[in-house]
Amino acid sequence: MQVTRGKDFQDIRDAVRALCAGFPSEYHRRIDEARGYPEEFVDALTKAGWMAALIPEEYGGSGLGLTEASVIMEEINRSGGNSGACHGQMYNMNTLVRHGSEEQRRRYLPKIASGELRLQSMGVTEPTTGTDTTRIKTTAVRRGDRYVINGQKVWISRVQHSDLMILLARTTPLDRVAKKSEGMSIFIVDLKDAIGKGMTVQPILNMVNHETNELFFDNLEIPAENLIGEEGQGFKYILTGLNAERTLIAAECIGDGYWFVEKVSEYVKDRQVFGRPIGQNQGVQFPIAESYIEIEAANLMRYEACRLYDAHEPCGAQANMAKYLAAKASWEAANACLQFHGGFGFACEYDVERKFRETRLYQVAPISTNLILSYVAEHVLGLPRSF
Ligand SMILES: Cc1cc2nc3c(=O)[nH]c(=O)nc-3n(C[C@H](O)[C@H](O)[C@H](O)COP(=O)(O)OP(=O)(O)OC[C@H]3O[C@@H](n4cnc5c(N)ncnc54)[C@H](O)[C@@H]3O)c2cc1C
Repeated sequence: MQVTRGKDFQDIRDAVRALCAGFPSEYHRRIDEARGYPEEFVDALTKAGWMAALIPEEYGGSGLGLTEASVIMEEINRSGGNSGACHGQMYNMNTLVRHGSEEQRRRYLPKIASGELRLQSMGVTEPTTGTDTTRIKTTAVRRGDRYVINGQKVWISRVQHSDLMILLARTTPLDRVAKKSEGMSIFIVDLKDAIGKGMTVQPILNMVNHETNELFFDNLEIPAENLIGEEGQGFKYILTGLNAERTLIAAECIGDGYWFVEKVSEYVKDRQVFGRPIGQNQGVQFPIAESYIEIEAANLMRYEACRLYDAHEPCGAQANMAKYLAAKASWEAANACLQFHGGFGFACEYDVERKFRETRLYQVAPISTNLILSYVAEHVLGLPRSF
């Protein structure tokens, strides 16, 4: 099948596809069934340098932009894998690169680039405040040369397969700040110094094979030097990670979308019912064609979000819109793919049900569709804030 995707960044695409070819669908299916973590796959990506794409060359990385990083993530999903196992390192990276001190960059980036350390986790969401991030209750209180952390987080992914986590906590109580987005700070948590020493990890069994956890902080002490940037400005810094996350996940959904469209197109050409291929029926063709159109359109917004992000320009609206369009397109493609596989869509060996579950997540996380609509209504269209 001819798709317009693939003409851009061909060298990166070819190399990532070649690596992914060594980890065929059976591999990802086996990991999914075992609820395992694709260690060998993430190791191979790391050794090949892909997980260091965003690290500047002077610290041992390849100094690429979010655009190229998004192509890497897209190709993983397009090949039948799931970037959810490793995208944290991509979306967290610029929080450290852009806002960390020179000392922090020197301490962490070369080791992340070599694969000695993984920066796969970001702790923002809390059980009692959900999307209302400025009301987080986890606190960080300065005591001498340390910060003491207390509180709770939920849905924090890849903690068991990471060495470092970027944590958002309140350093000034909400009722003592002029703007509710002030008074929060971000920290690098060295997980080996934290787990069992003030931080407890409780895994959450979930619909996707996505390693995610509840975290409990009970007087966890972290060195003051692990504060990123200025105290109280953390919300601003974490947006660097959140906008990257939305844009990268848009690219992943685009990869999923192409996977579904190609998979179902091949199937409906072959599958004969009533003496002809089911793909000859317009009732079958149209939903597939519609998803393809939507994926292509989402792709344009994804590149626009990447362009703005890499140019250090405001990109919140484009990152949100790219994620909205791509998640919607991949979900429509997933539905069409499952539907036209008939009963076979439910058989694990076709991988459709697995990819269907994986792509469904992105209607809710990392930001729900409703919250994107409300962002656009308020921040782009100037409508009154609804909450
Ligand atoms: C598998 C998984 C992995 C995750 N990984 C991470 C991670 O690594 N780090 C991290 O910090 N978080 C992570 N998250 C959390 C994720 O970002 C949140 O689940 C998501 O932002 C939604 O927040 P919530 O679950 O608290 O939903 P809520 O805020 O409770 O919202 C529930 C639903 O209500 C609706 N809603 C809420 N408020 C409004 C409103 N004002 N107007 C209209 N509709 C509204 C939305 O439809 C929303 O889907 C993960 C979640 C999952 C499921």
